[in-house]
Amino acid sequence: MKKLILFLTTMIVVALVTACSQGATSPKEKDKGGKLKIVTTYSIVYDMIKNVGGEHVEVHSLAPIGSDPHNYDPLPDDLVLTTDADAVFYNGLNLEEGNAWFNEMIETAGKSIKDDNVIRVSEGVEPMLLSSEEHKNEEDPHAWLDVRNGIKYVENIRDALKKIDATHADDYDKNAGKYIAELNTLHEEILEMMHAVPEEKRVLVTSEGAFKYFSAAYDFQAAYIWEINSHDEGTPEQLKSIISIVKDDGVPSLFLESSVDPRSMEMVSRETGVPIHGKIFTDSLGNAGSDGDTYIKMIKWNAEMIADGLGK
Ligand SMILES: [Zn+2]
Repeated sequence: MKKLILFLTTMIVVALVTACSQGATSPKEKDKGGKLKIVTTYSIVYDMIKNVGGEHVEVHSLAPIGSDPHNYDPLPDDLVLTTDADAVFYNGLNLEEGNAWFNEMIETAGKSIKDDNVIRVSEGVEPMLLSSEEHKNEEDPHAWLDVRNGIKYVENIRDALKKIDATHADDYDKNAGKYIAELNTLHEEILEMMHAVPEEKRVLVTSEGAFKYFSAAYDFQAAYIWEINSHDEGTPEQLKSIISIVKDDGVPSLFLESSVDPRSMEMVSRETGVPIHGKIFTDSLGNAGSDGDTYIKMIKWNAEMIADGLGK
């Protein structure tokens, strides 16, 4: 059924693009006031692109805020926007390719991940590997939770925008420079906050094991119910294992990610008597106007929540 929908949508897209290209003005001039049309796979990179691209870009995030970019099912509109995009940015490191939704959509949109204007923002990041049986040696996608990797993403976005739209290269340099300076300050702040948590309490328990890069950067240990969002989330074996870790280590608080199903962590809390301290952000920003609605704010929110829950 999904394939059929994609096929039908492709036919509509081809018809639309053909109709547009026959018009007197190009769709870019007519619809977007000359802005670059950018598509990205999830909201965190969406925010980074907006910071670097400023007034010169119009950005669409495929996986909307609050949803899980590992398992996203593109809508017909997503395919239309991707087909028509001047550039597409994705995380890589097994985030979108993990379940192949992105590759399939890019091909349906008549593009290829080998194209110059399809950009992997994690280029140059040192990948960390998954270790659980089902995912052994696959790359862990959650590099952005170490702010120094976030900076790498921003540099890649800057370089790509400069190449695609050389006319505004100075603006992209200026915006990125300012943003990277803020991110460097953020990294130092997070380091200081996390080091204020006593070493024996630095065990972070979440549903998905999204905190490998974070833990390595800020000297934490990460424990989780399942290692990466996939079709096996919260199996009886996984629950048994985390419940015994929480009990044995005397973990004081559990954390719940904004973009996962809360039921498994709620069960761990019931079984262990350890409270869920609060919500943290991993694979998505918070809704616009709410907590964690930018990359900088979500990282700060997480650090404050973690420090507060584990004891200063
Ligand atoms: Zn994830």
